[in-house]
Amino acid sequence: MSLSIEKSFNNSEKNPTVMRLLKLTPPVEESMLCLTLLDIFTRDPSVFAIPVVNPNNEPTGIVDRHTFFENFIKPFAKEVHGKTPISNFMNTSPIIVDKETTIDDIAKIIIDAGMQHMVSGFIATHNHQYLGIANGHDLLNEITQRKQANLFYLAHFDQLTMLPNRLLFIDRLDLAISDAARHETQIGLLYIDLDNFKNYNDSMGHSFGDKLLTAVAQRLSACARDSDTVARLSGDEFTIFIESLNCVIDLKIICNRITDSMKMPLHIMDTEFFITVSIGTAIYPIDAQEPAGLLVKADAAMYEAKHSGRNSYRNYTLGMDSYSFDHLSLETDLRMAIERKEFVLFYQPQMSVKTGEVTGVEALVRWNHPERGLLTPFNFIEIAEETGLIFSLGDWVLEEACRQHMAWINSGLEPIRMSINISVKQFYKPEFSTLVKTIVKKSGIKPSLLELELTESLCMHHVDSVLNTLHELHVFGIKLAIDDFGTGYSNLSYLRRFPVDRLKIDQSFIRHIDQEPVNIEIVRAIVALGKSMSLELVAEGVETANEYAWAKSLGCEFVQGYLFSKPLSLAAFEHWLESMMVMADTL
Ligand code: C2E
Ligand code: MG
Ligand code: MG
Repeated sequence: MSLSIEKSFNNSEKNPTVMRLLKLTPPVEESMLCLTLLDIFTRDPSVFAIPVVNPNNEPTGIVDRHTFFENFIKPFAKEVHGKTPISNFMNTSPIIVDKETTIDDIAKIIIDAGMQHMVSGFIATHNHQYLGIANGHDLLNEITQRKQANLFYLAHFDQLTMLPNRLLFIDRLDLAISDAARHETQIGLLYIDLDNFKNYNDSMGHSFGDKLLTAVAQRLSACARDSDTVARLSGDEFTIFIESLNCVIDLKIICNRITDSMKMPLHIMDTEFFITVSIGTAIYPIDAQEPAGLLVKADAAMYEAKHSGRNSYRNYTLGMDSYSFDHLSLETDLRMAIERKEFVLFYQPQMSVKTGEVTGVEALVRWNHPERGLLTPFNFIEIAEETGLIFSLGDWVLEEACRQHMAWINSGLEPIRMSINISVKQFYKPEFSTLVKTIVKKSGIKPSLLELELTESLCMHHVDSVLNTLHELHVFGIKLAIDDFGTGYSNLSYLRRFPVDRLKIDQSFIRHIDQEPVNIEIVRAIVALGKSMSLELVAEGVETANEYAWAKSLGCEFVQGYLFSKPLSLAAFEHWLESMMVMADTL
């Protein structure tokens, strides 16, 4: 933030005596100069300093009233020291500030000069021409006011997005609640979280992440009305509250507006891509009566939206509370979970559209938490990534999935492909491909029966090293799939360079595909692209017969979703497989 000193300078200009200027004409007549200075100082007590310039109008110094009287006039009058050259009482290196100098720079100059120049002020110049004295006191006042305003700003606004921060948000929500209580109106609260933000931050770098957050903040603000408050709570979490909410329909409208606006690609650092958000909503006074309670409820609803496949919104309903957890205590527990063998793999089948047979299975990790019960990845993968625990967790998942695959083979089961999710952080580890190969060799799994599911954001950055790793794995025989395809990068030409075998079309395009013509077009385009590169296509999140019919008619060769089976524990999955085989036999 900058401010020209003009204002302060003009203040001095209002008082012409302060502007009294002495021009030194060489050779300087010391006694004349002294008399002139004395004359000015004694005639007008408001003059606190006199700037002195040379005949070229260049400032040469300031004579400050206090120094002049104390050190020159007083001793001279008593004839203690005799006559001292006037230059001794001039500030021989005056602080010269240009008219354009900012308040912040002046503050720094004052601090560097040890504050004494506040008394005498500054010589202000413009284009090297003397302009006058900028009054130090006015400047100080100005600076103080500015700093106070700045401090308020820093404390209440998020410096990245310039949106109100949590503190101000709660404050405003508190006021709004008092108002709503008086007028018996409702307030709607939206808790918004970016999907897969961490992937972007990890793969594209923090400055990309910052720009992404700023762009999203602008989109959210554009979706809100002037009377709504949009804030950034932390990281990739935003909130909006809507006063005088009429009904749940109003919430639906704004949620739809937000998810629709996110369908437009974002342009960041020469990259065009898409991001989706998950939104949870809560209503005052129905769901909670104070800010903290409302936030907890909307957060729980947001988790529910994430859980049901991201890129969607959920209104709070009773029973959702258990999703939101204390981050810190989870982190502590997570550190011990591997040793305590608290992780388990769940399995979800993938079916061939053509034959109706189970052709593969995706291993999805779960955490059997001793107190909180069975937790899904949304509750802990992000913390595992932040703390680096993802490496040991990832190794465990890989080993366990390969081990289980071999156990099935050894028990006589027809081989099916095992798919495993790999986080960006894991993949970027230099020894990643070596590690995978070692585990594969040790377990005995056929490499072509192992598939690694990678996220699209991986392909957007560090392209050469990513390509190297992918090639190494590919040459070794391991299959590679891009998970949640279609939600990230919009320029799909990169795909041609990557040795990928399958695209898993994100479930947000499959969900309600029968009701969303735009999704039909997206899936059609992805299928065309995939086919043109001889890639296999998997539709994720198939829940209804209608969605299945669409996925099939649009050309997806494989399907996965609740319609066939939810992710199941080992025992339940084996049971499910058995019943499928019995069904096939009886057909
Ligand atoms: P993903 O790889 O896209 O996995 C699919 C998610 O969608 C799973 O959620 C699955 O339960 C859910 N799902 C499958 N079919 C349907 C459906 O028909 N409807 C709906 N609404 N949902 C369906 P889950 O198991 O909670 O996993 C969430 C995400 O966590 C996964 O998304 C994956 O990105 C990550 N994840 C899971 N296991 C691991 C792991 O071992 N390592 C890493 N790094 N990430 C993992
Ligand atoms: Mg997956
Ligand atoms: Mg997926």
